[in-house]
Amino acid sequence: DCPKCCDMVLFGALGDLARRKLIPALYQLEKAGLIAADSRIVGVARESFEASEVNQKVEDIVRQFVAADAIETDSLARFCKRFHFVALDFTDTESYQNLATVLNTQAATEQKRQRIYYLATPPALYSAICAGLSEVGLNAEPARIILEKPIGHNLASSKEINEHVGAHFNESQIYRIDHYLGKETVLNLLALRFANSLFSNNWDHNAVDHVQITAAEQVGVEGRWSYYDDAGQLRDMVQNHLLQVLSLIAMEPPSRLDAESIRDEKLKVLKSLRPINHSNSQQLTVRGQYTSGFAGDKKVPGYLDEPNARENSSTETFVALKAHIDNWRWAGVPFYLRTGKRMPEKRSEVVITFKKQPHNIFHETLPDLPPNKLIIRLQPDEGVEVQMLNKIPGLGKRMQLKATTLDLSFDETFKKKRIADAYERLLLEVMHGNQYLFVHRQEVEHAWDWVDSIIAAWETTEATPKPYPAGSWGPVAAVSLLAQDGREWDE
Ligand code: NAP
Repeated sequence: DCPKCCDMVLFGALGDLARRKLIPALYQLEKAGLIAADSRIVGVARESFEASEVNQKVEDIVRQFVAADAIETDSLARFCKRFHFVALDFTDTESYQNLATVLNTQAATEQKRQRIYYLATPPALYSAICAGLSEVGLNAEPARIILEKPIGHNLASSKEINEHVGAHFNESQIYRIDHYLGKETVLNLLALRFANSLFSNNWDHNAVDHVQITAAEQVGVEGRWSYYDDAGQLRDMVQNHLLQVLSLIAMEPPSRLDAESIRDEKLKVLKSLRPINHSNSQQLTVRGQYTSGFAGDKKVPGYLDEPNARENSSTETFVALKAHIDNWRWAGVPFYLRTGKRMPEKRSEVVITFKKQPHNIFHETLPDLPPNKLIIRLQPDEGVEVQMLNKIPGLGKRMQLKATTLDLSFDETFKKKRIADAYERLLLEVMHGNQYLFVHRQEVEHAWDWVDSIIAAWETTEATPKPYPAGSWGPVAAVSLLAQDGREWDE
């Protein structure tokens, strides 16, 4: 369904995120006919330029970041026409009147447009922007506001941001983005779990041996050393994306497919995470930092030799950890999380390993029956795989078994369907006013609480991150983390 008419206001409209992700995603929605006829897109940026330059500016961005064969002339022209630009210094409260003037301009006959503000800016500006909008009455309900990650650097700063935003917008107006929640395969987790009895009846400590969640990046810090060094991989990836995926895998069935029901269940999972602190962090976590090595065929420097690097930084570029969810369903089932930069490939996936059969009647030909696995690939090639054993056809006296894979690659299976980018889905959900794919304040704060405790534990030890060569799967200690439990990472 096409959402109702709205004004989508992009703060930071010429920044990296807006150019690379948001404007291309909005263009795809335009092409799919999912932006209402009179909706406008209002770019807000420091730079000012003439109205006559706007079309060309937008067209250039679309042509730079959308594949040439995916661009249609008509929809591109329609898209460019929707754009208005307002020059604004976000910290200058008085200049918000300029924005109000543009937003308040509409035909008297027109229904009031839904206002949506996307803050594609550094989070340090969220407070000033909210105050500026409030000053000229642009925060009034039913306006909606979208916040990008990171919401803070720790629990205290995330509370501060949430308080500042909350002083001007109600929680029901706030959409905190975690783009992993917009991925088809992440959404498909809900379908897999709650539409298929095969899985819903085998989704607990009786059936599942353990769960692995991997988010591997091949890139390094990409010229953003200082920004990254302040965060590290635990804050940058685990606090948000990995814990969100973990919550969706582990949550109880929500009573309905709506924001309140789903977010309540996810929150319960975060509250059930066993704390990792100085008493157990050595056994449950591994920190790594990449040294020189390879990204594909290319030789690349180590983290401490990147441009602008600070000597002796002990920021982790890799983290592996073993999490426990202390509730009835998951008692005794470890969730192993692993994420890092300069891994051999870009790959994000969830692997659910089921328990082995209690008795093996095929021991003569296969002494060790490998367990069934459900693999959910989040990127690059989104899809679902089930690993199972089958008999090899033939007349041999003994039954030979082979591990085979039921592969449901989304690209292959839904050939005619284009797989939408996560931002397309999320922008559309905001236009519809659906919050179920956005993160509630309490989720953010519980996730920070858990992560802060790990960081505090690391800070109390003399130990530094373990080195691993760029292009490897992290330090050997990450292998040992599973090996000590008689398990191994799924490669
Ligand atoms: P960015 O490239 O630095 O863009 C920020 C934009 O805000 C710039 O265009 C900048 O304008 C503008 N800006 C900053 N201060 C301003 C002020 N006082 N008045 C007016 N404009 C101002 O950052 P980004 O990479 O797009 O990231 C934006 C947000 O998204 C951040 O919260 C980031 O953590 C998050 N995020 C980004 C990505 C990504 O892929 N880039 C991914 C996930 C999350 P000038 O150019 O004039 O300085």
